[in-house]
Amino acid sequence: MPELPEVEVVRRGLETWVVGRTIAHVEVTHERAVRRHLAGPLDFADTLVGSRVHAAMRRGKYLWLPLVAPGAEEPEDALLAHLGMSGQLLVEQPETPRQKHLHVRLTFTDGGNELRFVDQRTFGGLAVERGGATLPPSMAHIARDPLDPLFDDVLFHAALRRRNTEVKRALLDQSLISGIGNIYADEALWRSKLHGARPTGKLTLAQTTLLLASVRDVMTDALAVGGTSFDSLYVNVNGESGYFSRDLDAYGREDQPCNRCATAIRRVSFMNRSSYFCPACQRPPRLSAAAGRPAPQQH
Ligand SMILES: [Zn+2]
Repeated sequence: MPELPEVEVVRRGLETWVVGRTIAHVEVTHERAVRRHLAGPLDFADTLVGSRVHAAMRRGKYLWLPLVAPGAEEPEDALLAHLGMSGQLLVEQPETPRQKHLHVRLTFTDGGNELRFVDQRTFGGLAVERGGATLPPSMAHIARDPLDPLFDDVLFHAALRRRNTEVKRALLDQSLISGIGNIYADEALWRSKLHGARPTGKLTLAQTTLLLASVRDVMTDALAVGGTSFDSLYVNVNGESGYFSRDLDAYGREDQPCNRCATAIRRVSFMNRSSYFCPACQRPPRLSAAAGRPAPQQH
């Protein structure tokens, strides 16, 4: 799954290349790509044609383009993009040959570059959500992401204390904080010197603050080099991959020396995936033998 930095890279591309333009024609070549548009592909295309793209918005890993309908002044509906595992939004010249997995093609009234949705594994898709310009209703349950200026650190800390789960599990919970996946969770925990199994109910405000700062730092660093690409599927709208995979400190580095203390990075199974951490820098929570519960920690 692309995480926040990879999706933000795409959002910035859409902002540069697509915002302000009016959709001329919509071609759906693979109906599965618009399956979330329940009224069907024809309605999907009809709704989009003549609409002007007002902005490029993101919450966590989700993108949407608020649309101004023909004759209207304010945006009302929104074109949502779910990138899924392998979805790409590419800005291409009209004469560029069709990609093998091209599913949706949008052309614009200015006759310039097209917007193409290409998706190898077809988990992603596009849909128009009525009245979704400000915040699509299907995204209302998704928490603000840590780069959102309105993200509230103190409220997040209170929610962590209440939830009392493992800190890595909390970082992946899109209802608490959005946009963080396995890669950036491991990186932020490594930077914070926190083990992912630490109980959130015991975190101090200072630890939460450090964790959020680490999340923001790692995402900002990743954004600066275009995100993290492992299999060339996460690309910007010009089809270019990011370079952050070279700068990872924990993720994917099993048995390699920790960049801080040289101890070998360890990998453990976690939620059907892997967690990577430094066993020296990131001490596991102490278990009290009697209760099998994490022992109280100093605040
Ligand atoms: Zn270390």
